[in-house]
Amino acid sequence: MELHNLMEHEVRYTLNHILTTDNDIKCQCDQCKLDIMAVALNSLSPKYIVTEKGLLYSRIAIMNQQFNTDVVTALAKAINMVNNSPRHEQE
Ligand SMILES: [Zn+2]
Repeated sequence: MELHNLMEHEVRYTLNHILTTDNDIKCQCDQCKLDIMAVALNSLSPKYIVTEKGLLYSRIAIMNQQFNTDVVTALAKAINMVNNSPRHEQE
């Protein structure tokens, strides 16, 4: 059995979707992506579930057919914050 925070998977999935559709995001390096995820996840309630190995992915696929507006809102704020003050030198 495995313990998962569904919210973390949802945030990662939604962020990847936003990054491929929104060209206004200045930096998409791994550090900024993880910073965005951390900021967003800190403002969202975790959703822990226990699943058998492998069962998680069908659950996520069903869930993500409809984007969670709380997640989208939290990510929009997090993207703004991290893009305006990335924790690395700007290139
Ligand atoms: Zn960056």
